[in-house]
Amino acid sequence: ASGYTMLRDPHHNKGLAFTEKERDAHYLRGLLPPAVLTQELQEKKLMNNIRQYEVPLHKYMAMMELEERNERLFYKLLIDNVEELLPIVYTPVVGEACQKYGSIFRRPQGVYISLKEKGKILEVLRNWPERGIQVIVVTDGERILGLGDLGCQGMGIPVGKLALYTALGGVRPSACLPITIDVGTNNEQLLNDEFYIGLKQKRATGKEYYDFLHEFMTAVKQNYGEKVLVQFEDFANHNAFELLAKYGTTHLVFNDDIQGTASVVLAGLVASLKLLGGSLGDHTFLFLGAGEAGTGIAELIALEMSKQTKIPLEETRKKIWLVDSKGLIVKSRKESLQHFKQPWAHDHEPVNNLLDAVNAIKPTALIGTSGVGKQFTKEVVEAMAAFNQTPLIMALSNPTSQAECTAEEAYTWTEGRAIFSSGSPFDPVEYNGKLFVPGQANNAYIFPGLGFGLVISGAIRVHDDMLLAASEALAGQVTQEHYDKGMIYPPLSNIRTISAHIAANVAAKAYDLGLATRLPRPADLVKYAESCMYTPNYRNYR
Ligand code: NAP
Ligand code: MN
Repeated sequence: ASGYTMLRDPHHNKGLAFTEKERDAHYLRGLLPPAVLTQELQEKKLMNNIRQYEVPLHKYMAMMELEERNERLFYKLLIDNVEELLPIVYTPVVGEACQKYGSIFRRPQGVYISLKEKGKILEVLRNWPERGIQVIVVTDGERILGLGDLGCQGMGIPVGKLALYTALGGVRPSACLPITIDVGTNNEQLLNDEFYIGLKQKRATGKEYYDFLHEFMTAVKQNYGEKVLVQFEDFANHNAFELLAKYGTTHLVFNDDIQGTASVVLAGLVASLKLLGGSLGDHTFLFLGAGEAGTGIAELIALEMSKQTKIPLEETRKKIWLVDSKGLIVKSRKESLQHFKQPWAHDHEPVNNLLDAVNAIKPTALIGTSGVGKQFTKEVVEAMAAFNQTPLIMALSNPTSQAECTAEEAYTWTEGRAIFSSGSPFDPVEYNGKLFVPGQANNAYIFPGLGFGLVISGAIRVHDDMLLAASEALAGQVTQEHYDKGMIYPPLSNIRTISAHIAANVAAKAYDLGLATRLPRPADLVKYAESCMYTPNYRNYR
């Protein structure tokens, strides 16, 4: 390629890092100023620039611009500065980016499939330049983070998630494909916005919606084969469960909001047993919120309990209770419940608020997944502390403003006895001279490693046992040093190693279950996973 083209191609561009030899060999002389910088120096310069922006959205835009200009440098920044940059390229800042996607949109970063493309989805997929796709993240934009229906502007989410598949999990960037399905939006503000980038119509529903998704899923398999992972992301719960169940038997599909969340939370629970004592089956769980996250987590806990105790799933489910917007889910409500809540309708008299439910059920673990902040009041937390020596409290609702309680509240109201973790990060808290480090149940711990494990084993289906394998591997990365600070998740700065262990455990499960197609099975799967991971260091062009 000519030097000029190389400079404009984000896969090849190295900017000032092109060496003297490369500048000679590739007609780059004169197209660059004379200085030659190392990748490390470029990284330092860019981090300095990014730290100077005070508005988080400007940091996001600087990162996206870098990705469009110099892909390897983008990933090097992200990998070397995970804890600092994750909140920028992913939640919470990506949420604001989606809200303003219309005005910051510059270049398509993925494929848009709207109702206009009905009947032609296969052709549309073929317009994407890369052929060897291994992971697709797809959204229909109906429930973006906690922000609701953002229609076509939801594209920021698949783009951000796939950046993490590469940076944290090691999937090659060229093997990742972000897709937004646009069936309209019910967001009035967007419908009335002259700069809105999506279809200006109300959402298609029912048969029209499901037929369109079916055309999409069929085209994906036809174009990329059976081993491409399709991750459903930020679909509203009235479609999410159904799509997962429908395609789980014919495609390699995964829903991070349901399954990824479940796996990361289970890992935290398993790790916390070291501090709580007992095994999973000795505990009783109460959830506030019975949607994708709540019921997904509940189901995986029940499954793990059932595996450990050999007690049937129908029985282990009875150790788990959920409260939704109408109160405790109980048998007398069964008829009127959505199908995903029905397994949780146990025998109990009606209870219509959380405090009464806590006092009635006396759970050892209280988990918040309602999306509504401040629900774990002083009374609720004190009740947990009254009948538990070490109450486990997870305030998972995002963003920070929606957390059920803060880390400080959890530690203070339990006199420093609680084990606390949350969906959004909280700073460490000092209480009575002791430092408590709250864990973050971030889905980013699980999905990149899980996806990578599926890819390296050539898995053709996702099995629940793989979610358990991922949890087990993550919990296994928590050390005594972490436990001493009250941590039930390892630091995110170790994420590449963590992902390699998760990938290896997931791949092992895929081989054990006969769902892996990449044969023969490597002897040391951790080493193998590490050796397959994408690294962002520059290549030499001769
Ligand atoms: P969802 O499917 O919409 O479910 C929300 C659930 O909360 C529903 O069951 C709803 O009740 C219930 N609810 C709403 N308001 C309530 C109230 N005032 N009192 C009691 N229950 C109430 O949402 P989701 O996808 O599960 O997400 C829920 C939250 O979890 C979000 O804030 C999200 O950010 C968070 N989350 C965190 C993680 C993580 O930490 N890793 C992962 C995923 C999600 P009805 O069914 O009666 O409407
Ligand atoms: Mn999500």
